Amino acid sequence: MTRSISILGATGSIGDSTLDLVRSQPGEWRVVALSANCSAEKLARLAIEFGAEIAVVGDEACLPELREHLSGTGIEATGGAQALCEAAARPCDLTVAAIVGCAGLAPTMRAIEQGNTVALANKEALVSAGEVMTRLVAEHGTTLLPVDSEHNAIFQCLQGNDLADVRWITLTASGGPFRTKTMVELEAATPAQAVAHPNWDMGAKISVDSATMMNKGLEFIEAFHLFPVGLDRLRIIVHPQSVIHSMVEYRDGSTLAQLGPSDMRVPIASTLAHPARMDTRCKPLDLATIGELTFFAPDEERFPATKLAREAAHAGGGAPAVLNAANEVAVAAFLAGQLKFTQISAIVARTLDNYAPPAPTSLDAVLAVDAEARARAAAMLEPV
Ligand code: NAD
Ligand code: MG
Repeated sequence: MTRSISILGATGSIGDSTLDLVRSQPGEWRVVALSANCSAEKLARLAIEFGAEIAVVGDEACLPELREHLSGTGIEATGGAQALCEAAARPCDLTVAAIVGCAGLAPTMRAIEQGNTVALANKEALVSAGEVMTRLVAEHGTTLLPVDSEHNAIFQCLQGNDLADVRWITLTASGGPFRTKTMVELEAATPAQAVAHPNWDMGAKISVDSATMMNKGLEFIEAFHLFPVGLDRLRIIVHPQSVIHSMVEYRDGSTLAQLGPSDMRVPIASTLAHPARMDTRCKPLDLATIGELTFFAPDEERFPATKLAREAAHAGGGAPAVLNAANEVAVAAFLAGQLKFTQISAIVARTLDNYAPPAPTSLDAVLAVDAEARARAAAMLEPV
């Protein structure tokens, strides 16, 4: 039976991997909405290839170009934040939330409200909104399927088990491209070095997050919301080979792990086929060639981001939204050459010290905290 799918953030790395899987199942999917921030040409090409109902650019300035590329195709073209939310609210069987950053929050909330099953890659949305999102999921009986490889692994390891029997959820972290670098080397790290991840091919923002370890910090908060076992049952271990994607230890002493190649098509496929399985063209895991799996405790002296995220999770209130917003601003400034690598976590820490709003209780309140935290973090970028 044909199922319908919308992909928010269709032109990015997760969008590419998702569409590659959709392409591998001809006739099985009907594409409703595809979105991008701008990339009008690529978006139009994808919308035509997949026969989408509607293509949306988040940045309204890119709409004329999108319209031009889609003229005569019968595919609707829209643009702007409101149009993105309207497209996200179109009913479909599965919405893949793959926009990067808090920019994906409002459209993801609309898909949840509609009752579409949501495959969530956009971790920043859940980190910022926290209970505002999980409450909406519960209210609308929406199924939320984690795409993030660690959370997808945990989700798989929890199947058929009771959360009450969980002793530990262990998130694995590759340690990123700078795992073995000294403090002095980290000071001088460039954007090009930071985005060159040893195991995964990802968008620029998450690649920098991986290098600072803020990605694991955001994932810690993401796990807290997806798998409510309590913060004191969540931990992080560095595992440079990225073969074990995460683990769940039960009270009887059994640890279940999910292993796989470092290819996001594997976790995405598990959400597309859920609760069944589908074929992928991913290179199978070759453990004899990999040879060794190693594990290390995280070094929070060189990589303070996981500590900041854990503290924000414990502090609660608006702290996770502030952490995320300040990090988005600092990462963008680092990528633009305005900030040293080691200043990213420093800006996040200073913003958290400077702004401690209460827990937002609505989408608008989350967006207001996000905007204020961005303004304060941006003000800290001025040369001192
Ligand atoms: P990316 O930068 O490659 O793609 C981001 C997508 O979002 C693009 O389609 C872009 O056009 C769109 N977008 C960006 N800013 C936007 C805005 N302001 N408004 C509307 N659309 C906007 O990023 P990615 O690597 O595909 O990551 C997407 C999300 O998935 C992130 O939240 C990331 O943390 C998460 N994730 C990615 C990976 C990975 O391997 N790439 C793994 C796990 C989780
Ligand atoms: Mg991950």
